[in-house]
Amino acid sequence: DTIGDNFDRTVAAFPDRDALVDRASARRWTYRELSDEITAVALGLLARGVKKGDRVGIWSPNCAEWTFVQYATAKIGAILVNINPAYRVHELSYVLNQSGIRTLISAASFKTSDYAAMIEEAKPNCPALRDVILLGSPEWTQLVDAGRAADPAALAEIQLSPDDPINIQYTSGTTGFPKGATLSHHNILNNGFFVGEGCGYTEADRVCIPVPFYHCFGMVMGNLACTSHGACMVIPAPSFQPAETLAAAAEEKCTSLYGVPTMFIAMLAEADFDSYDLSSLRTGIMAGSPCPVEVMKQVIERMGMNEVTICYGMTETSPVSTQTTAEDSLDRRVSTVGRVHPHLEVKIVDPETGLTVPRGTPGEFCTRGYSVMLGYWEEPDKTAEAIDAARWMHTGDLAVMDDEGYLSITGRIKDMVIRGGENIYPREIEEFLYTHPDILDAQVIGVPDERYGEELMAWVRMREGADPLTAEALKEFCAGRLAHYKVPRYVHVVDEFPMTVTGKVRKVQMRAEARDILG
Ligand code: ATP
Ligand code: MG
Repeated sequence: DTIGDNFDRTVAAFPDRDALVDRASARRWTYRELSDEITAVALGLLARGVKKGDRVGIWSPNCAEWTFVQYATAKIGAILVNINPAYRVHELSYVLNQSGIRTLISAASFKTSDYAAMIEEAKPNCPALRDVILLGSPEWTQLVDAGRAADPAALAEIQLSPDDPINIQYTSGTTGFPKGATLSHHNILNNGFFVGEGCGYTEADRVCIPVPFYHCFGMVMGNLACTSHGACMVIPAPSFQPAETLAAAAEEKCTSLYGVPTMFIAMLAEADFDSYDLSSLRTGIMAGSPCPVEVMKQVIERMGMNEVTICYGMTETSPVSTQTTAEDSLDRRVSTVGRVHPHLEVKIVDPETGLTVPRGTPGEFCTRGYSVMLGYWEEPDKTAEAIDAARWMHTGDLAVMDDEGYLSITGRIKDMVIRGGENIYPREIEEFLYTHPDILDAQVIGVPDERYGEELMAWVRMREGADPLTAEALKEFCAGRLAHYKVPRYVHVVDEFPMTVTGKVRKVQMRAEARDILG
């Protein structure tokens, strides 16, 4: 199926059900109304000269128009390029040139980001860019009006295949420079559909999506999971705010709520958390980085998200590879990332030899099947490093599979610490630190050490009112409960961790800062 055909079928099945709610602008659409908007934008883009295969960039925080453009580009076969709203001129120019964007649709500004000014600055160095349309500007209104006046028959004439590239999504840039994963209708529509199946979505569901659309978590696990099941998408705010998200979930009677772990931590820490009526919440997704067991337990107990699932995946795999289900035991639901999704193959290999390791042994997570991207946009060398000749995607993540096929992510190959010959998975120590009553959030990295090669450093965020943790106090806390070589030698107390906009902790940056701190 193409994304457009799948969407049209949902519109035909549920024309009068709620499809989209944009809380910031207090607007809402049924599926029939949303379909009209999308068709108008699609025809408007055609009228502006956008053709199948052209790259159309979208640079904006979450808003309804983002969604219109997502489905409109899919309908005309243009390749949507998601641009991170936190980018600045340098990164914008890179993406514009790397993917050869012809038409750029952008918010004019948001908070401290003057997108219009940054685009002006980038333009002279981006020869492929021919058309810039600012959301809310007269040009945007003209585009939509032209689309409304045009004959929809033009859409039926475009020859589309489910295997066409439809989307370039840049990875989060957690471990280095973002790479442009090129994805087809087939890749992301199927993945969105199976994520929706994993959450048990029907047309009765209302999904609160505070995660960014520019990332697959928002546009695939959010939007495509909803539209392929007739569920309603709720946008609580342009960018994540804990209070607005809780208010949206309560007032819109959402049945499902998404977030990366740090977002759930922030929501649970809201001062007036108990004043929000979250009784409509049934399920949700926590994903994107390791989901601490303690946080999962609180999400189930205090937010009432009894069926909440954990997903694991990456942009390059559309994104989801594994998901827990409501039927899994509580223990499995809080401590694993579930089992492999339908129609995908998974193997765990020794990263050195490439041979499959026995169950219970950590190794690199590799996957194969419909979800594997077409490749990195115009980077054949990087594609060949990631996807081998037999089409296995090598993820760079370390995982263990148990006898029943449940997977646990133990870290990234790049984050593993080797201290005096012992392999240490920072994740394990982070989980342990979460059990400390004064610690709100913890991250562990390796820092260079003359004697052991590497030593551990814990970065911690303290709970309000708690005294800053010292290395001595931490040592005492760990004594007898953690093997001596796993006890962090250094403690660094911070207010915030360096983060990507997708809410992931940037350990690369932490390691660089740690080298400065330690001199
Ligand atoms: P880059 O590839 O640019 O360094 P990134 O890998 O963070 O950035 P994404 O594609 O957004 O970019 O994220 C995918 C990665 O996120 C996975 O490879 C994995 O390391 C991590 N991840 C995703 N879900 C989970 C999860 N449930 N538990 C642990 N880690 C996860
Ligand atoms: Mg990655």
